Order: sequence, then C-alpha cells, then structure tokens
Amino acid sequence: MIAVFLGAPGSGKGTQAKRLSARFGIPQLSTGDMLRASIAAGTELGRKAKTFIDEGQLVPDGVVLGLIQERIQSEDCKPGFILDGFPRTVGQAEGLDAILKSAHRSMSRVVLFSIDESVLAERLTGRRTCGSCGAMYHVKFQPSREPGVCDACGGSLNQRADDSIEVIRKRMDVFRKQTQPLEDFYSGLCIMTSIDASQDPDRVFEQVRSALE
Ligand code: AMP
Repeated sequence: MIAVFLGAPGSGKGTQAKRLSARFGIPQLSTGDMLRASIAAGTELGRKAKTFIDEGQLVPDGVVLGLIQERIQSEDCKPGFILDGFPRTVGQAEGLDAILKSAHRSMSRVVLFSIDESVLAERLTGRRTCGSCGAMYHVKFQPSREPGVCDACGGSLNQRADDSIEVIRKRMDVFRKQTQPLEDFYSGLCIMTSIDASQDPDRVFEQVRSALE
C-alpha cells in the first residue's frame, strides 16, 4: 500500500499517519520529520532547509524529492508506506509519479484531510512534541499529565519554532497557493478520498483506515 496524506498544516495528517503506520505495519514518511532530523544532525542539507522552514516557505522540490527517492528504497518500504506532508507541489507530485514508475510501483490512495482554516491556528499553536520519543500533545485538546513532560517517556515537550502565529500565517498561504492545486491533480486520478478532519481523532482514524483497506 502506498498512500499520500494531503491536507493543511494542523489538519491531523501526522497524528493519523503515526497511528495508521502502526496499524498497517508500514512506515510513515514525513518529509517535515526528515528535514528536522537533518537540521538536528547539523548536515549541509539541514542548514539549507532551516532557512526555508523558519520562514514558513517550502524547501525546493529537488531536495525533498531526493530525500523521498532515497528513503523508499529501504527494505522497510517494500510492503508500502504512508507519505505525510509530501508531495506539496504539483512538481513534487509529478516527480513522485516518475519515481514510482521507475520502481514499477503505483499509488494506492490519496487521503484528503479536509478542514476549515479557522480552527487550524489554535491546533498548531497548542501543539507540543516530545523531544525524546516524538509523542504529540496539545495543551488544550490532549494535554500531558504533567505540563511540559511526556507521559510516555518523561522527555521534555517542545513547541516547534514554525508553530508561531506569524509563521503559521505564511504556511497557510503557501498551502493555499502551492499545495491545494494537488486536490485537482489527484481527484482526476480517481484515487482520492476526502475525510472531514475536524471530527474526533478516533472517528477520523476509522474513516482513513476504511479508505485504505
Ligand atoms: P511539516 O512538518 O510537514 O509541517 O513541515 C514543516 C516544514 O518543512 C514546512 O513548512 C516546509 O518548510 C518543510 N517541508 C516539509 N515537507 C515539505 C515538502 N514536501 N516540500 C517542501 N517543503 C517541505
């Protein structure tokens, strides 16, 4: 199974991709996570990506296509994978098509996380991630038992630098201009399912699971 999760920042793609990856036993490939890992490792790629991420802009297509092309050759991607936050431009979608064709593979489903923009800022500014295990929380909707401390591993919870209100505004603008056109790109292929991402996360999970099965 090769699935693409498409949706605005804060629509819940990452949370659901984690759960569905565990459910189906296939990896979640998040280009955002890969880029943040490169930044944390202090690589040349990470240094270049950081300037774009900090400004809420997209990292150039060639960079993310290179990351994905390399990653999907790994053994754990053989049974399939969930693409979370990639592709984000029509150029990336075309590049992905070419990569999959040359590997004699094809996409099974695109899940569109549809949500009203007005709720996204609150979702994003309250988001916290464990620096040790990556578990995700929300200060209002899913708080940890002890503020700032991960329930699962005791690690400290961090707020992403690009989850500030100024950068969120830019990311939303970028989403509307560069990523939303993908809805037309994929709806023409008849492999897209739209999910109401404003529902309770368990309901969203069930609907995405049934779309993928
Ligand atoms: P995310 O964690 O998916 O919200 O991504 C965080 C940031 O990483 C984005 O705002 C972009 O700057 C960058 N990024 C992640 N995925 C991509 C992508 N597919 N194409 C370009 N930039 C990306």
